[in-house]
Amino acid sequence: MNAIHDHRASRQAKTERPPFQVSFEFFPPRTDVMEERFWDSIRKLAPLHPRFVSVTYGAGGSTRERTLRMVSRIKSETGVDAAAHLTCVDASRDDVDAVVRGYRDAGITRIVALRGDPPEGVGKPFTPHPDGYRNGAELVAGIRQLGEFDISVAAYPEKHPQSPDWDADIDNLKRKLDAGAARAITQMFFDNDDYFRFVERARKAGIAAPIVPGIQPIHSFKQISGFAARCGASIPAWLAERFEGLEDEPETHALVASAVAAEQVLELVDAGVTEFHFYTLNRSNLVLALARLLGVRPD
Ligand code: FAD
Repeated sequence: MNAIHDHRASRQAKTERPPFQVSFEFFPPRTDVMEERFWDSIRKLAPLHPRFVSVTYGAGGSTRERTLRMVSRIKSETGVDAAAHLTCVDASRDDVDAVVRGYRDAGITRIVALRGDPPEGVGKPFTPHPDGYRNGAELVAGIRQLGEFDISVAAYPEKHPQSPDWDADIDNLKRKLDAGAARAITQMFFDNDDYFRFVERARKAGIAAPIVPGIQPIHSFKQISGFAARCGASIPAWLAERFEGLEDEPETHALVASAVAAEQVLELVDAGVTEFHFYTLNRSNLVLALARLLGVRPD
């Protein structure tokens, strides 16, 4: 009983501590209906004062204009700092540099810099553009040449599918941070032990920068399992079991989803994590609830 009491007291002390930092990731909407949901979610999440709201960048620059338009509007209409994602797939250095200058000219000073995936998918070999940046580290170095940006890069608690081993994976992360990135944001993961082991590996390799966990709330287990498979994140058997048979039971599905995400986030809090990046999929409900558990509320 005492142990339970102590545990609760320590968690309460943590949630009462102000400095939890959150950031929210969105994707650029493709249709008017999607755009309505996008802005509705932005309006609900902006009052939480996130460190930044980021907007993804479509493969091969397919969302180039939309990403810029969305981050510019987020910044000007909500006052929240916005970060634009950027990839170097299928683009020359000149093209990528032009996008960076476009961000700079629009007053966007935060970039999430990524190599991106080949059009055939994440597991397939990546062939850089003949005049392009060859990987995330080169992209970070290129961005640094063009201005004072706050740069975030990607990290993979389960190892990037193309890294031959852990040493190569951690070395690659170190190169990106040494090239000038301020922090790493992780790919989605559902077993916190993967994250803890990853952070330990990184610290042992001399990486001191924040490694912010990327939290993916499970709005739809079917959809998220598909995303996870495509990006090389695994779905533990216990997680699949929790959602089994809930395809046609949206209310129970939603309750299980919030319980699962709360459990994940609070376990990270208990381990001392103070920064979180939430993959919103342009929805606000679950993320609002999770932020509230962290004591992050609107004014
Ligand atoms: P890199 O860091 O370049 O690494 C990719 C692989 O190549 C690694 O296995 C690495 O070890 C290897 N490698 C790198 N350099 C070398 C070298 N010199 N020699 C040998 N091997 C090397 N994708 C999008 O298209 N748009 C987005 O907006 C987007 N946002 C994302 C946000 C986050 C937080 C995360 C985690 C991912 C995001 N992605 C996005 C996906 C990302 O583009 C893919 O995961 C991609 O496969 C890798 O990008 P990276 O920047 O991590 O690549």
